[in-house]
Amino acid sequence: MKSIAVVMPMSSGDSHLSERLSEVDRYYVECPVCRGSAIVTVYSYIISENETIAILTLMCSYCGFRFRDVIPLSETDGGTCIEVYIERSIDLNTIIYMPSQVDIEMPQLDIAVEAMSLRIGSIVTVDAILQYILDSLNSVCGTAVKCREAIARLGKVVRGEAIEPTTIRIKSIYSPLRILKSYRDDNYRHC
Ligand SMILES: [Zn+2]
Repeated sequence: MKSIAVVMPMSSGDSHLSERLSEVDRYYVECPVCRGSAIVTVYSYIISENETIAILTLMCSYCGFRFRDVIPLSETDGGTCIEVYIERSIDLNTIIYMPSQVDIEMPQLDIAVEAMSLRIGSIVTVDAILQYILDSLNSVCGTAVKCREAIARLGKVVRGEAIEPTTIRIKSIYSPLRILKSYRDDNYRHC
């Protein structure tokens, strides 16, 4: 938790800090400097009722490289439809800010998920979304052949074994979506 104190624009005596700040994800990426394994931690921080920011830190224990980014999550910008192209394993680390009501489609895999069942938080990686869909399919598929096939193919994508390019299309019903962090140029577009 040491890295958090550095970026917090408030006094250390604030007793509400733990309610406002929460770690939402943590994963490894290739260090942009030494190509070693660097850890990325994503926090969400509620400034006020109407304003939340995402804080992203990257730390490499091999070369000591550190990077920090603060991203406002304004409700007023961003589109309501985003497509992310999953072609390399790094694309799974793309971070998306999304409202609770979204529809998700993966056209190549014949997968479509309706809004209401998605409860995985507002700042998530593509990886976490895919894992959620995989878990959901596993619990509803039964022995349906087409569904089992979709699970097998999606499982390969989640494990980073996908050779065929896969698209995930996320449509928000009410409020905007945003890509907070992408690790590759041109791996998403608004639709
Ligand atoms: Zn490094």
